[in-house]
Amino acid sequence: MTIPATASCIIVFLGPPASGKGTQAASLAERTGMGLVVTGEMLRRNVAAGTPTGLEAKSFMDQGLLVPDHLLNRMVGETLREPGYLKGVILDGYPRNMAQAEFLTSQLDAAGRCISHALLIEVPDEQLVRRQAGRLVCRTCGTVYNKYLLPPPSEGACACGGELYQRSDDTEDVIRKRLAVYRDNTAPLVEYYEDLGVLRRVNGEGTPAEVQAAVLTQLEAKQEQP
Ligand code: AMP
Repeated sequence: MTIPATASCIIVFLGPPASGKGTQAASLAERTGMGLVVTGEMLRRNVAAGTPTGLEAKSFMDQGLLVPDHLLNRMVGETLREPGYLKGVILDGYPRNMAQAEFLTSQLDAAGRCISHALLIEVPDEQLVRRQAGRLVCRTCGTVYNKYLLPPPSEGACACGGELYQRSDDTEDVIRKRLAVYRDNTAPLVEYYEDLGVLRRVNGEGTPAEVQAAVLTQLEAKQEQP
């Protein structure tokens, strides 16, 4: 596979909440050995640990709103300077608005790095609501199941034995709010990355394996000139 994983390339996953970008980003990281940065997870860990970042982020997360840019930019900026993240990195959940995208570009430019691909995972809205309303996450290993679409092997428990929980921000109201926030804030990034010549569209409606195959096809395709 000719994914430039060893170069200092950054792959950004874009897509609405529950488009499956998290699953795809994690499989790709496993397959390529690239570093993986998942901002939603980083924030949830901060909330659970009661750090200052977590305390500031929690009320925004509970309402389905974006956490202030300065927290995210600092968190991601610091991570990208860590030794384990100096080569290929996959970003899941960041950037989420133009200010974050421009901050990321400026950080990467200054470090002589760049974004090789922005993969947009596309799924219709109604399917997104259904996916989120049924979502169950393992407290131990982070595996994501779905009550309706991908039930766990036994009720309430993950294959690893860990306890499954429903995210506090996975209620129907908050889900619809997150979709609106996506349309208003994150969707404009599609044009931004299209202009940079790195946007690739992936149909996210299939099984995770089908979507993964489509992701790999896009990563192996020849780069267009911006
Ligand atoms: P996720 O797990 O990606 O759905 O993220 C959960 C929540 O974390 C979002 O609804 C936001 O409140 C917050 N969040 C995650 N990433 C970002 C980001 N890049 N910018 C602002 N807020 C974020």
